[in-house]
Amino acid sequence: LLSDRQRHDLVLAHLKNGVHLNGHSTLSKKASSTNGFIKADYLLDRNLHKAFPVVKGGKGNYLFLSDGRKIFDTTSGAAVSCLGHGNERVIDAITAQLKTGTPYLASTFWMSEVVEELCKELINGTDGKMARVYLTGSGSEAMESTVKMARQFFYEKDKNTPRVNFVARENSYHGNTLGALGISGHVARRAPYTPFLMDNVHHVSACNAYRQREEGESDASFVAKKAAELEAKFHELGPETVIGFICEPVVGAALGCVPSVPGYLNAMREVCHRHGALFILDEVMSGMGRCGTLHAWQGEDVVPDLQTIGKGLAGGYQPIAAVLISHKVVKALMNGSGQFIHGQTYQGMPVQAAAALEVQKIQREENLMKNVRVQGAYLEERLKTLLGDHPNVGDIRGRGLFWGLEFVKDKKTKEPFDLKMGIAQKLSDTAISPLFNITLYPGTGTADGVKGDHVIIAPSYIVTREEVDYIVKVIADVVHSVFSTI
Ligand code: PLP
Repeated sequence: LLSDRQRHDLVLAHLKNGVHLNGHSTLSKKASSTNGFIKADYLLDRNLHKAFPVVKGGKGNYLFLSDGRKIFDTTSGAAVSCLGHGNERVIDAITAQLKTGTPYLASTFWMSEVVEELCKELINGTDGKMARVYLTGSGSEAMESTVKMARQFFYEKDKNTPRVNFVARENSYHGNTLGALGISGHVARRAPYTPFLMDNVHHVSACNAYRQREEGESDASFVAKKAAELEAKFHELGPETVIGFICEPVVGAALGCVPSVPGYLNAMREVCHRHGALFILDEVMSGMGRCGTLHAWQGEDVVPDLQTIGKGLAGGYQPIAAVLISHKVVKALMNGSGQFIHGQTYQGMPVQAAAALEVQKIQREENLMKNVRVQGAYLEERLKTLLGDHPNVGDIRGRGLFWGLEFVKDKKTKEPFDLKMGIAQKLSDTAISPLFNITLYPGTGTADGVKGDHVIIAPSYIVTREEVDYIVKVIADVVHSVFSTI
């Protein structure tokens, strides 16, 4: 066991050396001579200068690295691997589908039983409140499809419809393809591409209680201000020009698990519907059980007109996402051209559907939503107990098994650290080092004065109480260690 002093020195040395852990290999008996890190020379990915740990496989909540280490996957990748790794049932379902000889079918010509069954499962999961499913290969594609479908909803009724504007939110992330990025309010990700992004997307402020709510202000008063802001934006644009309002029920990557205040979704929907616009939810990250109900909107029964899902849909076993479409929108398409004018090659593939269907069946049969709620409540309690008083932990917020820690220089003034210090990245790099062997998903605030560093914690839905105890203890150690070096 290391003393605090030893750990402090090791973390400091590690942070100075970046992720190259030379000299620390004594901590891991099995560490290979390269320490299990590879710098990508052929793959063009983000972080071109960085060396990445090499993963050989995974089982349950653990990833196994080439240097012999076992890493607890505290984040399910990017809040994706909701059933953990190596689930035999899902692997068998995918294998069986591959063996039929049709992993792929052109969705414009063919239907397969597994695709139909998945769609039925998804519609049942909304208690019939949504009518149809449009399958895509990623969350960004689902958002692209949503943007086009929302426009088509009005176009079907009137080819000269004046509805051309979307309202979305600052500090949001909806994907990296141009349409989805155009909706997003993620300044850093938008910056190089601004000339290509839709100029008919207008942003209102996020719903960020920690940063925006006045001391002692009630939910009702805070929500009323947000609704008034949206109403004003509609009037500024001309309410008859607005296609819809788009938001994440719990902001994921852009802010770090910031949930809407109770009553917010309903108030925003009311503004939309008062003006005949669509209310659209992006649940790619916060949906499919992550927040303790299958859909985040079910927590408040605020049914959207269009909704995207992804990530937890197939838990990372296949790339698949979807748009869930309300009766109202389906009716407009049916009564109009009778088709959605869109489509891509790799959508609705039977092998993708087989993975998603099995993941959804497992979640339902094993009542994993209950585990998300129970362990989520325990995770909240543990995080607040072990880190609530830390001078640099400004906010601990989230829902279900989707939690964010926001770090500040000054707890009282909420002043963030200088982004150049890379606090969130330091925390993540330290967490994954042989000292701690867990993952933390780092992020930095993106815009408009909200510059706080955060990390996301999003364990799988099969996490146990003992594991929650373990990960929170290790996270607390990581936080204490990193801030002892700053
Ligand atoms: N929408 C939200 C809320 C997301 O968090 C993401 C990805 O993180 C996306 C859309 C884009 O999904 P994908 O990365 O699968 O394209």
